[in-house]
Amino acid sequence: MSNTTRPLTLLHLYPDLLNLYGDRGNIITLRQRCQWRNIPLTVQTASLGDTVDFGPVDIVFIGGGSDREQTLLFTDFQKYKGPALVEAAENDLPLLSVCGGYQLLGRYYRAHTGEEMPGLGLFDAWTEAGPTRLIGNVVAEAPVLGPDVTLVGFENHSGRTFLGTKDIRPLAHVRSGYGNNGDDRQEGAVYRHAVGTYLHGPVLPKNPALADWLIRHALIRRYGDDHLPALPDRWEMAAHQSIIRRFSQSG
Ligand code: GLN
Repeated sequence: MSNTTRPLTLLHLYPDLLNLYGDRGNIITLRQRCQWRNIPLTVQTASLGDTVDFGPVDIVFIGGGSDREQTLLFTDFQKYKGPALVEAAENDLPLLSVCGGYQLLGRYYRAHTGEEMPGLGLFDAWTEAGPTRLIGNVVAEAPVLGPDVTLVGFENHSGRTFLGTKDIRPLAHVRSGYGNNGDDRQEGAVYRHAVGTYLHGPVLPKNPALADWLIRHALIRRYGDDHLPALPDRWEMAAHQSIIRRFSQSG
């Protein structure tokens, strides 16, 4: 492992509003997996009315929220278009967005009330609420993260998300559960190093491959290489395998 410290900065957007189902645990996971590698991680937060300089930012996290919270912030969120979050993501800034945050990075989210909230259009995707909620455990294959990477998590959303064709691909292919819309077996989205997913839980403690994918790309973008030593995730992987076995059998 490189002996020079290589600090990273993580920006957590709307932590006071988009924080469903323990999504804050994703911040704890990134901090801990950096600490185990002696990578100092600074966590910044920004919410309604704040301004952000994306220059020092190495990773962005946006959690999930109910329609009510999304309604409270979607107008404020528009300030991140153009030379801010969208431009940084187009320059390969690693980003993780979960459920409600994911939806607002697409073109729009139409809630069950019919209210249409414009998104940032970072993802060529759109979301429309359906008549029922898609709730349950998910097992999905994620080759974009590496060979044999399987993701597990919990989903609870009324929104059905559909991916367009412009530089976007699904994060994973559903083996068990609903995913983006319960129809096309796609889960989440990837655009450059920006990831959207419906997996709560929080998603990162159960899926170390996704956590390290974000950290690795942040190191490469900031320092030109990652030198990210593997961690003995044997406990996480043992738990992971038992979850996969249990939920895959339920089909
Ligand atoms: N309010 C959105 C929906 O119901 C997102 C929910 C969430 O973040 N879990 O689809």
